Amino acid sequence: MKILVTGGAGYIGSHVVKQLGEKGHEVLTIDNLSTGHKEAVLYGKLEILDLSDKEKLREVIKNFSSDAVMHFAASIEVAESVENPLKYYRNNTANTLNLLEVLQEFGIDKFIFSSTAAVYGEPENVPIKETESLNPINPYGKSKAFVENILRNMSNAYGFKYVSLRYFNVAGADPEGRIGESHNPETHLIPLILKTAKGERENIKIFGTDYPTPDGTAIRDYIHVEDLANAHIVALEYLLNGGESDVFNCGYGHGYSVREVVEAAKKVTGIDFPVEETDRRPGDPAILVADNSKLVNNLNWKPKYDDIEYIIKTAWNWELNKKF
Ligand code: UDP
Repeated sequence: MKILVTGGAGYIGSHVVKQLGEKGHEVLTIDNLSTGHKEAVLYGKLEILDLSDKEKLREVIKNFSSDAVMHFAASIEVAESVENPLKYYRNNTANTLNLLEVLQEFGIDKFIFSSTAAVYGEPENVPIKETESLNPINPYGKSKAFVENILRNMSNAYGFKYVSLRYFNVAGADPEGRIGESHNPETHLIPLILKTAKGERENIKIFGTDYPTPDGTAIRDYIHVEDLANAHIVALEYLLNGGESDVFNCGYGHGYSVREVVEAAKKVTGIDFPVEETDRRPGDPAILVADNSKLVNNLNWKPKYDDIEYIIKTAWNWELNKKF
């Protein structure tokens, strides 16, 4: 099949491009390289293009005539979204609208969307089911929730078929070490811990030790990027086989506290790096854990790397041998 991937030079997109390529699909990546890396695109062609350029987008989509589209291109920093909300509504919402309009022009009606657990805000029920109400508490989560609403409306109005995947905490790297996470600035827990272990940072700060959790630190559902990439593959197959539009959580269904992740990283790296306990980071809920039964049961998703030490091990290998 011919699959168009926006943001295919980014962390998650590049792992999906790799799996699509391994499965023999023809892939075209569109990326503006604002945060992506051209070396991360292991299969197919890369078209350097910003989704705000609708004319050029039209040309690329017309020439490639894809069977489905996977849309990763987005801005992803919560704190930045609070400081610069327009950037998020432009990049994540308005540019997605451009893409959807062009897809409609060319009759491309199968779409996989990178959504986020941030659409739930501070959920009332944990583990979180897809039926939990959407109450995003920052512009990042809102910019993604807008798109989910647009997709639902399109599905009802035009018979457009989409799958929205709500990611929990994605971590880890290609087990063969070819690609991995490379954000600048980095804000995520596991890469920051590993940069500390490597000696690039003075310490790792634990944001909040007074949460209502067993050890007082926040709990997240960490999913290996390879398993998340595979969720995209099963979602794609589902749509290509005539599946209806739907939404799925992507996580393992259980979580680890910040302290537990720190301890696991000390064990994996063998390094006793410095840890500092500080105040909570604003907007961080106590516990975010997915109920993943829908993805497991409806799409027959079979995660392979549900092991925090393995996740950290692949991320550590990448951190030590980064290619970009
Ligand atoms: N966190 C932390 N120190 C850091 C970065 C993150 O204690 O330097 C905590 C953060 O408060 C949250 C968890 O680690 O509870 C995961 O944060 P991350 O930014 O990786 O992902 P998020 O859950 O915000 O999507």
